[in-house]
Amino acid sequence: MKELIYKIVEGYEPTLDEMEKILSLNEEDAEVLFKAADEVKKRYFGNEVHIRGIIEFSSYCRADCYYCGLRCSNRSLPRYRMDKDEIIECAKEAVDAGYRSLVLQSGEDLYYTKEIIGEIVERIKEYSDVAITLSIGERSFEEYEYLKEKGADRFLMKHETADESLYNSLHPHSSFKNRIGCLKNLKTLGYQVGSGFMIGLPGQTLRTVAKDIMLLKELDVDMAGIGPFIPHKDTPLGKYDAGSAFLTVKAVALTRILLKRPHLPATTALGVLNTKYKDKVFFAGANVIMQKVEPHKYRRLYEIYPKDIKFEKSIREERKKLENYLLSLGLEISDSRGDALKI
Ligand code: SAM
Ligand code: SF4
Repeated sequence: MKELIYKIVEGYEPTLDEMEKILSLNEEDAEVLFKAADEVKKRYFGNEVHIRGIIEFSSYCRADCYYCGLRCSNRSLPRYRMDKDEIIECAKEAVDAGYRSLVLQSGEDLYYTKEIIGEIVERIKEYSDVAITLSIGERSFEEYEYLKEKGADRFLMKHETADESLYNSLHPHSSFKNRIGCLKNLKTLGYQVGSGFMIGLPGQTLRTVAKDIMLLKELDVDMAGIGPFIPHKDTPLGKYDAGSAFLTVKAVALTRILLKRPHLPATTALGVLNTKYKDKVFFAGANVIMQKVEPHKYRRLYEIYPKDIKFEKSIREERKKLENYLLSLGLEISDSRGDALKI
């Protein structure tokens, strides 16, 4: 297995069967995969972690994804929207606290027209050259084009699962073809594009995970978020088990040795499971972490899945705390925007 892993590191493209074998390694044998992924990560990114600030600005969503607490059919969740000025003030405070990269994320909320989001992006950019990633779901080519012209740098939208029929069964409001079409449009428009997928969706197999990683390669992503599925009780998938943290880290590591250059976060969902893999993932290929920066009163309402709300401190204090934590693991903090690495 070690030989196969290092062949991939040197550029060999594995078959789906070989990828499945790697994904089924046991804890002891997976160490060689994690070590190889750490070596590749260090070759491209050194020991640095990028901290991105995420502003979850609206929990309204027109979509009905079977796994997500924000789905429109979940009537038990109180919803919120941040207004334009509130979002811009929050972004400025994050920039002042040291953030060089911000993610503006929401449900699919059409209240925010392209003009509103465009103005928000433009005004944040007037304040700072902070990198802006949008994560607002499926929109038309023209809307994406407009937002790019207004200054958005990146877009994050996971493909969720590469199994087309599984995707379609979990997304009654849309389709796999539309999702992939959106990701390709974003790439055409020159966005730095992030995709990703969940581990542990009911019906997923190791074969699907292998195909998920190959789809990231085909899409030539600049970022990829790979995180465990976490059940939310008020959704149709509420009674299923959470995805495996161990398999999540193996998928991150295999993505790193095969794709090499994408930014790979230690996902929030992996942190929520709070296993030993929460830290381990930084030594198995991950080089990014996201930190919520919207006001605390909104954080508990952005309930994609159940989670603990830990500190109620200022943006600056929370960033410092996270930095100290990463430093205590022996990692370094990047002071760059962390743009896509082109090789
Ligand atoms: N609405 C936008 C979208 O779907 O692209 C952005 C926000 S959405 C909440 C961000 C991500 O949350 C999704 O891409 C999905 O992978 C993740 N997510 C939703 N429900 C989840 C769950 N139950 N467990 C783990 N991740 C989940
Ligand atoms: Fe809406 Fe995104 Fe949740 Fe789907 S994953 S319900 S699009 S917020």
